[in-house]
Amino acid sequence: MLLSIVVPCFNEEDVLARFHDRVTDELDRLDGAFEIVYVDDGSRDGTLPLLRELAGRDPDRVRFLSFSRNFGKEAAMLAGLRHAAGDAVVIMDADLQHPPELVHRMVALHAEGYDQVVARRTREGDRVTRTLTARLYYRAINRLVDVELVDGVGDFRLLSRRTVDAVLGLGEYNRFSKGLFSWVGFRTTTFSYENAVREQGRSTWTFGKLLNYGLDGLLSFNNKPLRAAVHLGLLLTVVALGYAAWIVGDALVNGVTTPGYVTLLVAVTALAGVQMVMAGLIGEYVGRIYYEVKRRPHYLLKETGGASRAADTRVT
Ligand code: UDP
Ligand code: MG
Repeated sequence: MLLSIVVPCFNEEDVLARFHDRVTDELDRLDGAFEIVYVDDGSRDGTLPLLRELAGRDPDRVRFLSFSRNFGKEAAMLAGLRHAAGDAVVIMDADLQHPPELVHRMVALHAEGYDQVVARRTREGDRVTRTLTARLYYRAINRLVDVELVDGVGDFRLLSRRTVDAVLGLGEYNRFSKGLFSWVGFRTTTFSYENAVREQGRSTWTFGKLLNYGLDGLLSFNNKPLRAAVHLGLLLTVVALGYAAWIVGDALVNGVTTPGYVTLLVAVTALAGVQMVMAGLIGEYVGRIYYEVKRRPHYLLKETGGASRAADTRVT
């Protein structure tokens, strides 16, 4: 059996050498062959030269792809999966937050017949605010989307060959892998691990990025948010009609009394807010359609190197 490790790397020169040593150490102890596919996501530091060196030293087992610019982790994972030749593929972060020791466990579970072996991290060491927002977010989103999204579950997982092929078969431009993995299904098992604090460098996740990621998760799967908007619109209409009836009745009985400025202002501003959210929601879906119909590639390669074991012919 051949095991592929896919590693997206964006500006990881500080940890990459250490990561490589730790992973090869671990994998050497597994029986069975392995390959590591590094994807340089347009790093602006010494990541690419380092990858050339790693691949040069061990060209049979190390392969790298390098993007023409930063296309994001989703694109990097897609490229890695496309170029991985393994019967099973493990996706790992380069920053050692995904303990390489766990690969053993994943492989063992895979041998028991699981197609997806998912590592779920505990939120130990995270800031309370992030833990809380995550919890609320997952509770809300699981009501809205069809696939099940689990807190703490990320991209650190083993995928069997047929799962990889299934994921690659989903050609959408906006990729929300967490959801795609869940969407394809197959026999899945999850185990927990202690979250490791990032060893070097810093997370590229800002609050804004997290918010957008959250919205992506919400909007990538179905049109339930649009349906929710319709429901809300109906509710508001009913309330407004009731209120209107009451006002008219009141005016008929008591005559017109001038006050009502506050009511008016509140109604106008609140409804304007609601309408803008709704319009934005529709815009989001239209924007997604726009990106899909352009059919642009997810990434562009500028360089590849190392092992040429796989059907390495697909350029994008
Ligand atoms: N990464 C990437 N492209 C990006 C940002 C990140 O390939 O634009 C890689 C990064 O090198 C790392 C992994 O994705 O291997 C996770 O990134 P990070 O540690 O910043 O995210 P976090 O661990 O906070 O989720
Ligand atoms: Mg990280």
